[in-house]
Amino acid sequence: MKEKDSARVERAVEVAKKAHEGQFRKTGEPYIIHPLAVKKILEEWGMDEDTVIAGILHDAVEDTPLSLDDIRKEFGESVAFLVDGVTKLSTARNGMRDIDTYLPETKDNFLRLMIALGDDIRVLIIKLADRLHNLRTLSALPPDKQKKIAKESLEVFAPLADRLNMGRLRVEMADLAFKYVDPKRFEELEDMINKYNKLAERSLKQIEKEVGDALSKEKIKYEISGRVKSVYSLHKKLAKHNQNINEIYDLTALRVIVDDVTDCYLTLGIIHSLYTPMSGRIKDYIAMPKQNGYQSIHTTVITKDKRVVEFQIRTREMHEYAEHGLAASFYYNEQKLTENYKKGKIEHLPTNLLWITELQMTAAKLREGKKVDLKKLKLNLFADKIFVYTPKGDIIDLPKGALPLDFAYRLHSEIGDHVVGVKINGKMSNLNKKLEQGDIVEILTSKNQTPKTSWLEKIFTPHARHKLLHTLNDSSKSSSNEKPIPPIRKK
Ligand code: MN
Repeated sequence: MKEKDSARVERAVEVAKKAHEGQFRKTGEPYIIHPLAVKKILEEWGMDEDTVIAGILHDAVEDTPLSLDDIRKEFGESVAFLVDGVTKLSTARNGMRDIDTYLPETKDNFLRLMIALGDDIRVLIIKLADRLHNLRTLSALPPDKQKKIAKESLEVFAPLADRLNMGRLRVEMADLAFKYVDPKRFEELEDMINKYNKLAERSLKQIEKEVGDALSKEKIKYEISGRVKSVYSLHKKLAKHNQNINEIYDLTALRVIVDDVTDCYLTLGIIHSLYTPMSGRIKDYIAMPKQNGYQSIHTTVITKDKRVVEFQIRTREMHEYAEHGLAASFYYNEQKLTENYKKGKIEHLPTNLLWITELQMTAAKLREGKKVDLKKLKLNLFADKIFVYTPKGDIIDLPKGALPLDFAYRLHSEIGDHVVGVKINGKMSNLNKKLEQGDIVEILTSKNQTPKTSWLEKIFTPHARHKLLHTLNDSSKSSSNEKPIPPIRKK
């Protein structure tokens, strides 16, 4: 971070101070506290100067006599565009009405606006900084407003942060908000986590040391630290697992940060040689990044004192990206990125942030007056998952992009290993066909079938990939040039 503000930033602070003079926040503090806090957040995220300036001025047009033209004249087109975007986003909210009708409408309006503003994702980043500070100071508002803002944050802003892979922001926002949405539950879960961590503390220290020693012996440079599970993500996980805490395997997690991808896989091997890995719990998000670009290898192991611990292994760069997401890539590519934004290009964005490209393409279509399927886009923005059905009507949830083999391996590896074909919605289809929301999927098997190496290309989920590799590994040490398979020690 810069120690000293540039003259332009200093000037923006001056202008904002003057514009907000005599205004106060609900906390009783002078209003300027808020834009300055937003400035600080954006600087911490490593955002470019125009974004920081727009952050300082983000409430000025809506709440003060300052006009967009004033801002354009003094700070240029780019800052004016960003401030205008943030102003439009806040007017897109629907005022104080019944929360149940309010949220869907807000989501819809937001979506329309995001599409319109999709040209410059920095608008969303300013809005997220704005919301973060408002959440941090939420206690000053009356309870009904608190609840509304908190709920909206959980349902709109935290998922948005997740889509931008801003992990640290997502966690802070969700926990701040959840505390207001369900205070009793929050406290309960927080207690649970604290107690658990206290119990685990000593043995975690021991594990840290064991792993550290083993890595040093192999001359791998590393950093290792514990990560605390957030209250809200525990809440969501418990809901998925019938409130059974014994099914939550990542309550305790250790994060190992190493120099490069090769070291990630070596580290995985070393951890597996120390402890027993739980089968089906290795997730290779390096080979298969999450949709938001998240990369890491996760593995859950059982330690010598029978403790279940999740390891997350990643490089420094992956770590930065997991914590700060899109904002981090601004930091790394600031020059290039702002240049390209001016030219209206975004192809330099990390390829796994394809939804942004999609947003832009949709924006272009809208401008040309073409019809756009908003429902489809909504799914992309607010959910990673699709739900498909077995012929018997059992619901299986899979990540978007999943293929028939993913479905088959999810049912059972015996089924996966013997696939000969697939029927989707009653019709014969093929193994390359992406599954869609609501599909009924029937897997055809034959006991004479054996798994093929070529299937690896017809698989999307790390889970299915792992199962397939496992069988392939067992049946023959094939000589094909696959990725190295991490060693797995069996019990
Ligand atoms: Mn604001």
